[in-house]
Amino acid sequence: MSETNVILIDHPVIQTKLTELRDFSTDHRKFRELLNEIASLMVYEVTRDWPTKPKPIQTPMERMTGKVLARQITLVPILRAGLGMADGVLRLLPEARLGHLGVYRNEETLEPVPYYQKLPRDIAGTEVLLLDPMLATGGSGTAAISFLKNAGVTNMRFVCLVAAPEGIQHLHRLHPEVPIYCAAIDRQLNEKAYILPGLGDAGDRLFGT
Ligand code: URA
Repeated sequence: MSETNVILIDHPVIQTKLTELRDFSTDHRKFRELLNEIASLMVYEVTRDWPTKPKPIQTPMERMTGKVLARQITLVPILRAGLGMADGVLRLLPEARLGHLGVYRNEETLEPVPYYQKLPRDIAGTEVLLLDPMLATGGSGTAAISFLKNAGVTNMRFVCLVAAPEGIQHLHRLHPEVPIYCAAIDRQLNEKAYILPGLGDAGDRLFGT
């Protein structure tokens, strides 16, 4: 598999938290906490090369020119599991705005079905982080990216925790320029399109359903 444009963030602190997150004995309260913590930690790598602009300030000692992020930021969690990452990312990027995209997977056809969209009106010029903990078939991810492209978005990154090789290939086939940031690349999908070894259904584990 070509891993061009896939950034695997295998920091030991993230790996430790991801292992606990995967464990089936981790309850929904802990799962929620860990998912947000990992999302926070990933922000450093995901935003590493974002452009900055100069900002003149006065320190208690003298004037200087500091740097601040140049562009506005929009987080777009894919409902529902992507919501579990939003607070964690907002901890580091509190000025970000939030759009929402609802895409669910029809369990029989495995096809993505869009059911809700609400984006900031001027999302096109912003840095967009598309959030979904699981990149499985890539169906929802590719549908969400197409939707954002239609809304005029040109700068976007797909941020997930666990990616399957099948999902990476699918997403890259349709949207090769969109970088995928993940904390693990797992072995494969099973016949129901769950990731192995994965962590089960992220939405169910997050919301206790
Ligand atoms: N979505 C999940 O929540 N888990 C998987 O393993 C695949 C898709």
